[in-house]
Amino acid sequence: MADSEIVFPGDELGVAEQFMPGDGAYEEDGMVYAARVGEAELDPGSFEARVRPRTQTPATLDDGDIVIGRVTSIRKSFVSVDLEANAAEPGRELPEVGSGTLHISKISPDYLDQIEDAFRIGDLIRARVIDDDPSIQLLTKDDGLGVLVARCPKCRTVMETKGDGLVCPACEWKERAKMAADYGLGNLLPPDNVDELMEQREQAQRDHGIDFPPRPQYSPGNGD
Ligand SMILES: [Zn+2]
Repeated sequence: MADSEIVFPGDELGVAEQFMPGDGAYEEDGMVYAARVGEAELDPGSFEARVRPRTQTPATLDDGDIVIGRVTSIRKSFVSVDLEANAAEPGRELPEVGSGTLHISKISPDYLDQIEDAFRIGDLIRARVIDDDPSIQLLTKDDGLGVLVARCPKCRTVMETKGDGLVCPACEWKERAKMAADYGLGNLLPPDNVDELMEQREQAQRDHGIDFPPRPQYSPGNGD
C-alpha cells in the first residue's frame, strides 16, 4: 500500500509481523486494519501502522455528490449505507449525516428480484446523492456506481470480477453483484474510461463468464 493513501475502516494496512497497530488502527488475526477513515501511514522507524485523521472542516454533501459508503443493513426494499467520504473530498470529515438510504428501484438498471443479488452487508460502494433533505437518498444505477470492494462471505478474501459477477480467488465462492465498472481498482471517483471498462466486462462475460445463480431468497429475521 502506498504511503498517504486514503483508507476506510476495515482496510488492510499490513501484516502484524511487520507493523504494530498505532493510532487509528487495530490488529485482528495477524493483520493490521484501519479503524477510521484517513491517510494511512506505515512508519518504518517505529514499525507502526497508523491512520491520520482527516481535517475537521466538514465536507458538504449535496445532490449529485459521489459518496463512498459501507452497506450496513439490507431490508426487503432498501439498503442502509454508512457514508464514509465524499469521493471528491476524501480528506475531510463528513457532516453528521450518519447514513444514506438506497431504494431497490435505484440500485441497478436491470430488474432486481431481491437486493441480495446486488449487495451484501459490508460491501464498500460508490453511490450518487439524489436527495439530501430531509435524509440522504442514494442511487447506484450508473455504470460507474456500485460495489468497489467485496469480501467473500465464507473466507473474507477480497473477491475478483469474473464477467458480470464476483468470484473468490481462495475458495471459488461466486455471486452476483452490482459492481462499479472499476471494481477493485482503488479509485474513489469514477474513472474517465467507464464505458471502455464496461465493454471489457461484457466481452469477458461472453468469452468465459459464469451464469451466476440468484442468491437464496430473502427471509425476514435471518440476521443479514
Ligand atoms: Zn472465499
